[in-house]
Amino acid sequence: MTALIDPFQRKIEYLRVSVTDKCNYRCSYCMPEEGAHPEGRYTEYLDYDEITRIIKAFSELGVWKIRLTGGEPLIRKNLPQLVQQISALPLVTDIALSTNAEHLAEQALALKEAGVTRTNISLDSLDPVKFERITRGGNLNKVLAGIDRAFAVGMTPVKVNMVVMKQTNFDEIPTMLDYALDKGINLRFIETMPIGTAGISVMDEYVSADQILEIIKHHVGSDLLPMLDKQEAGPARVYRISGSKAKIGVISAVSQHFCETCNRVRLTARGELALCLGQEDMVDLRTPLRAGVSDDELKNIIIAAIARKPERHHFNENRHNIQFRQMVSLGG
Ligand code: SAM
Ligand code: SF4
Repeated sequence: MTALIDPFQRKIEYLRVSVTDKCNYRCSYCMPEEGAHPEGRYTEYLDYDEITRIIKAFSELGVWKIRLTGGEPLIRKNLPQLVQQISALPLVTDIALSTNAEHLAEQALALKEAGVTRTNISLDSLDPVKFERITRGGNLNKVLAGIDRAFAVGMTPVKVNMVVMKQTNFDEIPTMLDYALDKGINLRFIETMPIGTAGISVMDEYVSADQILEIIKHHVGSDLLPMLDKQEAGPARVYRISGSKAKIGVISAVSQHFCETCNRVRLTARGELALCLGQEDMVDLRTPLRAGVSDDELKNIIIAAIARKPERHHFNENRHNIQFRQMVSLGG
């Protein structure tokens, strides 16, 4: 089987698939208040058969790990059907989900039965008023119920991602730690990235991973034990807490990039292949797909695209140069 190896000798094994660039939330660091594409152009979205065909091609080129993301994937109609189609692909062995969890409680069981193995949930505050403000309308209780339901149906490990913002939720790191340790959640603190939102200087809120780590160390003391778990970690620095099942991660996308181990590319809801979160390079797969390419031709387009994968992003150097590229198209 041909493997996807990029020009920097990185093996691409992971595809993140944005199933919609729409979202029921408007997180301040991610989306403008009016939404990503208020005009709406649903016909441009890949349908489930098209998405499955692209994933099948990737899987035959060595990709085994898929993450469904968005926008908010749970607002796309009948997501379990897509999960079932992907589950039927023999070479895909891991189907993860990223969600804001507002609708997870209702859908968790169907998604689990369709084949979702595990889930990442965004949660930036445990204060309902602040949560509603950050997300511009989110309901904290529904999200917490969604997290509990993910555990109940066995969509584990459950990871919770918190984007840490200096003036907004920096003070909540200890509360979030206590919540995660109590529930056995793998909590990951994420540096705000200069991408996504329109017009707001998100980087005024930037806190570095080292600052976050200081607070964590202060809170849990000598119980914080660094661990080397590549499968678990991905781009995170991960720590175990003695006496708890929970793992704590810090993702330093800006202050310390991890591009040399990048193993992923992203498929947008409109069928473009984004080769790097922080670079504009995209390859259109929808046009050839709709023009009737064969499976082999599709794979050749993918192989040629991977040959264009950039070496790294430049978030750190461009901290104050916000990319107006939408995070919701890229799927985080
Ligand atoms: N709606 C789902 C969710 O929120 O989990 C999936 C899509 S969301 C774009 C994926 C991830 O990107 C979330 O964890 C979110 O916090 C993160 N994200 C969005 N904008 C970001 C930014 N400017 N900096 C850091 N992380 C960001
Ligand atoms: Fe929606 Fe997720 Fe972006 Fe928040 S981070 S606006 S939940 S896509």
